[in-house]
Amino acid sequence: MQRVFVIGGGAAGCMAAWAASRRGAVVELFEKNDIVGKKMGITGKGRCNLTNSCPMDAFIAKTPGNGRFLHSAYEQFTNRDLCSLLRQWGMATKEERGGRIFPQSDSAVAVRKLWYHKLLQAGVTIHLQEEVQHIAYRDSFFVITTANGVYEGDACVIATGGVSYPTTGSTGDGHRFAAALGHTVTPLKPSLIALVTQEEWPKQLAGLTLKNVEASIWKNGKPTARQFGEMVCTHTGISGPIILQLSSVMAHHKKMAFPIDIRLNLKPALRPEQLEQRIWRELQAHIRQDAKNALKTVLPQRLLAVVLAAAHISQETVAHQITKEQRRRLVTALQALPLTAVCTRPIEEAIVTAGGVEVKEINPKTMESKYVPGLYFAGEVLDVDAFTGGYNLQAAFSTGYVAGSAAAQEDEA
Ligand SMILES: Cc1cc2nc3c(=O)[nH]c(=O)nc-3n(C[C@H](O)[C@H](O)[C@H](O)COP(=O)(O)OP(=O)(O)OC[C@H]3O[C@@H](n4cnc5c(N)ncnc54)[C@H](O)[C@@H]3O)c2cc1C
Repeated sequence: MQRVFVIGGGAAGCMAAWAASRRGAVVELFEKNDIVGKKMGITGKGRCNLTNSCPMDAFIAKTPGNGRFLHSAYEQFTNRDLCSLLRQWGMATKEERGGRIFPQSDSAVAVRKLWYHKLLQAGVTIHLQEEVQHIAYRDSFFVITTANGVYEGDACVIATGGVSYPTTGSTGDGHRFAAALGHTVTPLKPSLIALVTQEEWPKQLAGLTLKNVEASIWKNGKPTARQFGEMVCTHTGISGPIILQLSSVMAHHKKMAFPIDIRLNLKPALRPEQLEQRIWRELQAHIRQDAKNALKTVLPQRLLAVVLAAAHISQETVAHQITKEQRRRLVTALQALPLTAVCTRPIEEAIVTAGGVEVKEINPKTMESKYVPGLYFAGEVLDVDAFTGGYNLQAAFSTGYVAGSAAAQEDEA
């Protein structure tokens, strides 16, 4: 009987261990924390955005980090397979805006606890608080060294995650193991990460959420990517869903280097001439008021001050004194407010790590190493990363399923 080691008890490792056990292997899971799925337990702001209801092809499109590599894994274990497995286990799911799927209970902790319970039920031996220090491959066997002992087995799945949120246990150990076993590790970069801006105004407005705005990245005078939705001002710059998605585009754009020009469209639903009309009506209606009061229905007051400054209009200018040229500048400031991203926040704060084990060295049908027979990789340790929306967890579950299932097959040679 095949003896399979799984290193790391995150989403990918839990799934790999369960899938291998289901195929009849003797499975030992090593997790350095005192629980499995510590990161899983904080996902989706504590609600765990498990996956997405979109077709699997769309998953690939939403995965700028080597999405096509996942094609076969997504054929073998889909979003529907995940939901149906959870349903069999008694966990109902629900769909929300943008096809995002959450547990009905809205509890990421419930998902993590369910995995622990199901792994025990499947007969997986779980070594908690047992950090793997070294993995060696000798005479077709894997020798795993931990602080508690040395173990020998037939197959090994490395599912140690990336390097972001290291307090959840993902500190890059798998990259070290992969490199020692002859694999290439592509440069690690933060993705789905807040941006630090040169401008001070977002920092002064820290905590302000802007809904229904559009942010775009500009290069050589042209927009290269845009996102519509919610943005948040932070004490160092900007964040929120649309900024996180743009950071992913930045991480994968080979020719993009900081500083990066960003423009904010605070009124994307209006054409410039409609917006100018709207401003004109407000100014006419409050003809004796100063600009900051006359236009207070157009934008929140604190943001209005920023826009007036960008349009070089004093806040004290009386409405009837505002010229057509100033109105035009106001429209430009409202629809193309410039921001300069000077860098991202540190990789430790990223939702995912871009970069990792080079996927060209991995068989996409099995997740097996092309160099070391019996060695498998799953989850974020691979050079795979996606947008927000449940795509990263699905990637971890699908690759975990494929790796665990393949690792359980006895070598027929
Ligand atoms: C705050 C936050 C929210 C997120 N929300 C979502 C979301 O809602 N939906 C979504 O799709 N994605 C989300 N993600 C991304 C998603 O959580 C990850 O992509 C996914 O969990 C990766 O799973 P993994 O199993 O590959 O790695 P991890 O979950 O990082 O698990 C790796 C495990 O390996 C263990 N380990 C590491 N080294 C060793 C070692 N040497 N010995 C033993 N054990 C070791 C670690 O302790 C850890 O438990 C979120 C990420 C963060 C940080």
